[in-house]
Amino acid sequence: MYGIGYSSGISPAGHREVLELLGELGFKVNPDYRVFGEMDKLIEYIGLWQAGRFDLPYAVDGLVIKVNSLDQQERLGTTAKNPRWAVAYKFPPEQAVTRIRNIFVRVGRTGVLTPSADFEPVRLAGTTVSRATLHNEDMIREKDIRIGDKVLVQKAGDVIPEIVGVLDGERDGREGPWTMPPKCPSCGSPVVRAAGEVAVRCTNLACPDQLWEGLIHFASRNAMDIAGLGPAVIGQLLAAGLVSDPADLYALHPEDLIKLERLGPKSAQNLLGAIANSKSNSLARLIFALGIRHVGERAARILANHYKSLEALMASPEEALMAIPEIGPKIAASIAGFFAGAENRRVLEKLVQAGVNTRDAGAATGDAGPLSGKVFVITGTLEDFSRQEATEQVEKRGGKVSSSVSRNTDFVVAGEKPGSKYEKAVALGLKILNEREFKEILARE
Ligand SMILES: [Zn+2]
Repeated sequence: MYGIGYSSGISPAGHREVLELLGELGFKVNPDYRVFGEMDKLIEYIGLWQAGRFDLPYAVDGLVIKVNSLDQQERLGTTAKNPRWAVAYKFPPEQAVTRIRNIFVRVGRTGVLTPSADFEPVRLAGTTVSRATLHNEDMIREKDIRIGDKVLVQKAGDVIPEIVGVLDGERDGREGPWTMPPKCPSCGSPVVRAAGEVAVRCTNLACPDQLWEGLIHFASRNAMDIAGLGPAVIGQLLAAGLVSDPADLYALHPEDLIKLERLGPKSAQNLLGAIANSKSNSLARLIFALGIRHVGERAARILANHYKSLEALMASPEEALMAIPEIGPKIAASIAGFFAGAENRRVLEKLVQAGVNTRDAGAATGDAGPLSGKVFVITGTLEDFSRQEATEQVEKRGGKVSSSVSRNTDFVVAGEKPGSKYEKAVALGLKILNEREFKEILARE
């Protein structure tokens, strides 16, 4: 608690009295406030917290300095936005000196090579850090960062470590300028840097690191939401040669998964179930899952609503895409480029063959409807609906169907022979519906 909005019968003279009163009344008041008569003492107190802030059980980025007298506060008044009697003091970020041990490069989902610095571990803003992204080649050149350099590091917003700069005069002459490797560190293909771009890319579509990142994205919670298909399992599937694109996931057999380490028969069965369930995901999820550059969840939803099917989206010329509100030229060019690629078209064809839903089943998640905002999980066999039909019925009413049970699940629809999702739902105390109750909810409109 920081203040009183309205009161009667009491007349505290200052902010300190207000806080004391609130404390006596049993409200939670931060005990670290002080009242100062001299500016020097105030500055001294700020210095104390600058060093001591990381010992607090919560994160702070500064202090607020207020005029104590309520009478003076009232006379000072407020501007359009802020009171004139209070000001925020922000701490400068804590910095430390360390030495760059190595600069390494990783390949992301879109093939972009990102350099990062590995430095001697230092304590910074309450944690030990030893890595910072260097973003791109230009930034490294601008700051002239070299392996072996002594550098100043800080945490931006006390969260993300960054290299502020190199300490001059600390080199012994062995440090050479750093350059981007000419070949992809994952697949060895030559890398390219497009005119006007800072990013250097590996253009090999079959690049293992790109595939790995792409599959992680495809299976992620906001994309196809395939529970149990995390980075480690995907890495094993790639290493075993079982998948080389997202569509291969739908061709996996139980015998394939048994060969994988650390994946018991039960988990293998659950994983295959989750993969199969993802076939009935909404079109918007599928579009987002494809990992087209610049197409996030929001753009994917707009495209699904507009085109209603993947086939229509694929056939759309770039100008038509640009005519859609909120789809700018950059997104349009990226989508057109993606669908023009022969390899991408081949993978999409495989996804269709595998039975992955490519049609918009009606109102997208989050749209208005009687089931708007409700999350359903369907388990077991329903008498009057296929899994796909039940999903469509829920989505048509604005609800969402997820393939995995969590605390965010509102309803679990249990048909004949429900699986482990049913047990999990019971354990979590979720609302479980039989088919009759499910129909009743659908009928409420
Ligand atoms: Zn590569």
